[in-house]
Amino acid sequence: MNEKIMVVEDEKDIARMIDYNLKKEGYRTVVLHDGSFAALTAAKERPDLLLLDLMLPGLDGLEVCRRFKADARISAIPIIMLTAKGEESDKVLGLGLGADDYVTKPFGVKELLARVKAVLRRAARAEKAPAPEKLKCGALELDAAKVEVRLKGAPLELTAKEFELLKALMASGDRVLSREELLEIAWDMDAAMEVETRTVDVHIGTLRRKLGTEGKRIVTVKNYGYRFNAS
Ligand code: CA
Repeated sequence: MNEKIMVVEDEKDIARMIDYNLKKEGYRTVVLHDGSFAALTAAKERPDLLLLDLMLPGLDGLEVCRRFKADARISAIPIIMLTAKGEESDKVLGLGLGADDYVTKPFGVKELLARVKAVLRRAARAEKAPAPEKLKCGALELDAAKVEVRLKGAPLELTAKEFELLKALMASGDRVLSREELLEIAWDMDAAMEVETRTVDVHIGTLRRKLGTEGKRIVTVKNYGYRFNAS
């Protein structure tokens, strides 16, 4: 399916011009004229890229960028900032906040499309890097291909949900995973809407017990989610 690009730009003429040209290139688009609901819309629409104007009513571009990077559901979406001349310091700030690139207004259509393509290509390459099939930590070994977990060499009996939760946690490095994120990983998306996030806590509880002494590695991050302590 064609990539979906979300555009947040309050100047309607520019938004229309971008929208028109992206569609002409075969992209699907979602256009917003205000920053307030950008993060919420992105969590629902799952765009492959965000084109984000800096000066916006509601929430400005930097704040939108900050929210994207702080929300695990949408933090991986690459961002191209649209900045006006004279916003140099904001541009630097935007890149510091995790934006991938910027285009200075006024820009040509060709330049914009080239940046879009380049950033999408980079993101696709990063995504293709395969997740490791075998994860090992302390006395714990997880084989994703065999769907098998061993504790001190002995196979552990985990439910499918427990297995998915453990795999996500072990593969996350030191990153904290939110309950919502874990729900989406271990349950499918539709179910994730219905299931209460507390359900994650229940499954983590049983998983911890089954892991015995290694259960301590699953660390609760209060009011947010869980982290795997590999050290
Ligand atoms: Ca603007």
